[in-house]
Amino acid sequence: MNTPKFARIALDNPLRTLFDYRIPAHLSAQLVPGCRVWVPFGKRRLIGIFIQFTQHSVIPSKKLKSLQQVIDEPPVFDPQILALLTWAAGYYHYSLGAALFTALPPALRKAETRAQLSHSCWLINSLPDSALQRAPKQQAIYAWCQQQQQATIAHDQLKQQFPDSQSALKALSDKGYLTRQEIALPMSPPACVDSQALTLSNAQAQLSEQLQRQLEHFNTTLLEGVTGSGKTEVYFSVMETVLRAPASQILILVPEIGLTPQLLARVEKQFSCEIGVLHSNMSDQQRVSTWLKISRGRLRIVIGTRLAVFTPMPQLKLIIIDEEHDASFKQQEGFVYHARDVAIYRAKQADIPIILGSATPSFESLHNVRSNKFHHLRLTQRAQAGQLPVIHTCDMRNQPAAAILSSTLTRAMQHHLAQNKQVILFLNRRGYAPTLFCHDCGWIARCPRCDANLTYHATRASLYCHHCDTQAPKPDLCGDCQSSNLILLGHGTQRIEHVLQQQFADYSCIRLDRDSTRSKGSMESILHDIHSHKYQIIIGTQLLAKGHDFPDVSLVGILDIDYGIYSADFRAMERSAQLLIQVAGRAGRRQTQGEVYVQTHNPDHPLLNLLIKADYAQYAQQALKIRADYQLPPYSYHMALRARATDSQNVHTFLNQAKSIAADYLPAQISIQGPIIPVMEKKAGQYRAFLLLIRPQRGMLSEQIQHWIDQISTLPAARRVHWTIDVDPIDAH
Ligand SMILES: [Zn+2]
Ligand SMILES: [Zn+2]
Ligand SMILES: [Zn+2]
Repeated sequence: MNTPKFARIALDNPLRTLFDYRIPAHLSAQLVPGCRVWVPFGKRRLIGIFIQFTQHSVIPSKKLKSLQQVIDEPPVFDPQILALLTWAAGYYHYSLGAALFTALPPALRKAETRAQLSHSCWLINSLPDSALQRAPKQQAIYAWCQQQQQATIAHDQLKQQFPDSQSALKALSDKGYLTRQEIALPMSPPACVDSQALTLSNAQAQLSEQLQRQLEHFNTTLLEGVTGSGKTEVYFSVMETVLRAPASQILILVPEIGLTPQLLARVEKQFSCEIGVLHSNMSDQQRVSTWLKISRGRLRIVIGTRLAVFTPMPQLKLIIIDEEHDASFKQQEGFVYHARDVAIYRAKQADIPIILGSATPSFESLHNVRSNKFHHLRLTQRAQAGQLPVIHTCDMRNQPAAAILSSTLTRAMQHHLAQNKQVILFLNRRGYAPTLFCHDCGWIARCPRCDANLTYHATRASLYCHHCDTQAPKPDLCGDCQSSNLILLGHGTQRIEHVLQQQFADYSCIRLDRDSTRSKGSMESILHDIHSHKYQIIIGTQLLAKGHDFPDVSLVGILDIDYGIYSADFRAMERSAQLLIQVAGRAGRRQTQGEVYVQTHNPDHPLLNLLIKADYAQYAQQALKIRADYQLPPYSYHMALRARATDSQNVHTFLNQAKSIAADYLPAQISIQGPIIPVMEKKAGQYRAFLLLIRPQRGMLSEQIQHWIDQISTLPAARRVHWTIDVDPIDAH
C-alpha cells in the first residue's frame, strides 16, 4: 500500500467542497478521521476536521500547503457521526464542513478548548511571611487552602467555600501563591443504572412488551397516545430493559428547552444515573463538558433538543423522540435539517430501534405507518381515571364584534372556578393588541422593515414587530392624517389578562407566554405557582400546549382557532389541529371530566368539525386524503431554493436564472414552481421569494440536484442575494 499523500479537510465555510493538504511525515500517524487539525488558509490559520486520506488531488501538489498540527487525540467525531453528518450534508445539500462545525459544541470550534475531560485545581506555593496582610480575603483563601493539607485543592471545592472569590483568586495566582492546573480525568467506566419500580396499566404493559420484542434491530415505532395516556411510563419501561445491557446509551429528543426540566425531573427520579442534558441555552463550558462525557460513553441517558441528534454516542442502543410532530425539531437557519428525520437515519445506521411519541402525530409519520415503514402502537385511554375532555364549539358569529370571551365560555368559567378548579385560556398571540388603527382614515401602524403590523405591548407601552424585533414608541397621532382617534384592535394575551382582571376580579390570573417567561427560572416559578393554586386562571400561548400536567385544570377555552383555518399555508390547519388537541389535553387529567370550548367564526368547517366531534385520527385521515388528491406532502417531496435581498429585483433575477438553467440538469420528473412570493414578502428589511422543486420520491435524483446547485452558486446573480436550500420545508414562507 502506498503511504497516503494528501489529507482531505473539512473547513467551516459554505463551499460544498473539501480541501486537500500535504501531510508532514511526523503527523501522518496521528491523523484519524474526525480529529481537529490546524491548517493554513490564505493568510489565516484555521481549524479543520480531517475526513480522509487521498492519493490524488485535483490541485497540483506543488500548490498544496501542509497541515500544521493535529489537535485531538482521540478525535472529536467518531466514524458513525462522520457518516451521519456526511449523509445529512448530502441529503440537505449543505456544506459538510459547515455541518460538522454546527454539530460541534461552540467551545470546540476554538482550539483553546481541548477535547478532553479535565477538572481544574489549584497548586499551593509557599508564601513569604506577612505577604497578604493587606488583603484579608486573599489571606483567608490561602489559609483555608493550607488547612486542607493537600498538595492541590479542587476548584469546585474552593468555589463552594468562597463563592465570590474570582478576583481574589486571580490576584493570588498573579502573585504566584496559587497556580491553576487542568488535570485530565481518568476514563471511569459508565455507571450502572438502577430503576425505580414502575406501575404500568395493562395497556401500557402490553405496548412496552411489544416494543421490547424488537430491540435487537432497526425499526421505527409511532407511539400514538392520547394526551395523559402515560407515554412516558412506556418509554421508561423500555429504557429500563435497554439500560440493563452494560454501557448502553439512550438518546431522548424533546422539542423545546422549556420541556427539558420537567422530563429531566421525571427521568432523574426514575433512574439512578447522571443524565446528560444538551440544549443551546447552556454555557459553552457546560455544553462541551457534557458533550465530551456523552461522546466518551460516560453518560447513559441523554435528553436534548434537536442539535443533540448529532452527539457522538458510542453505545447508543435506543432513540426516543417525544412530541415528534413538533415543528421545533426543524432547524430553520444555517444548516437546515429535521432532527426527527436525521434521528431515524441514525437509528437505521446503528441498527437500533427508534420510538416516535405523540398524541397528534405528524402527517409524515402517519403516512409512513400506512406505507408500512413504521410500526404503529396506540394508547387510546388516559392512564389515570380521568376521561378525555368533552369539546364544544362556540359560534362567535352571534357575539358582539369586539367580544373575546363568549357568554357561553364566561358562564363555564364561572362554573368551574366556583368548584375550586383551574381554567386555561389559550390564545396564540402575544402582546396587548395586534393592530393600532386610525379610526378616521384607516391607517395601521406597520413595521417599516416587514410586511406586518406592529403589536402593541402594554407592559412596556410600545409597539413591537414580532418578526424582526423592531420597537417603536406608541404614537399619539395617526401617521397619515394626524388624528388622535387611534384605537387598538384585536386581542393579545396581555389584553385578555386585562379583561379577566375586570370580569373575574375575585380570581387571580397569570400569563404564560414568551414575554412573561423571558428571564431565567421564571417559567419554573410560574409553573410552581400554578400547581400551588396561587392562580386560578392561566392565559397563555402555545407554550401552554407542550407536555404540561396541571392536575386541577378542568376547563380549557381556545379563544381563536380561525387563524389556522384561513392561512395560505396548507400545513397551517394540521398545526392548528395539533395545537387544539394538545391544549385541550390539559383539561381534566385527573378524576374530573374536563371541558373544552373552542371559539370560532366557522363552526361549520368540515375538518374542524371532524376534529372536534370525532378525534385527531379521523381528522388526520380525512386531511391526508385531501393532501393525496392534490399530491401535496407527504405524497410528494418538496424542496425550496430560497433567496432574499434588500432589492427584490435581485431576488427575482437570481431565481429566474436558477430556474432557466434547471432544464440542463434536472430531469422531467422534478417539477419546478415559482418564483413564489411568500405572504410576508418583506421581512427584517429583506425581500424574499423561492422556487419550489417537487419530487415524486424522497431524496430522488439528489445527485442531479447537487449539480444544479453547484451551477447556481456560479451565477453572477447569486452574489447579490442570500440564498439557501431547504429540503422538506415545513412552511411556505
Ligand atoms: Zn410582542
Ligand atoms: Zn388617520
Ligand atoms: Zn418587522
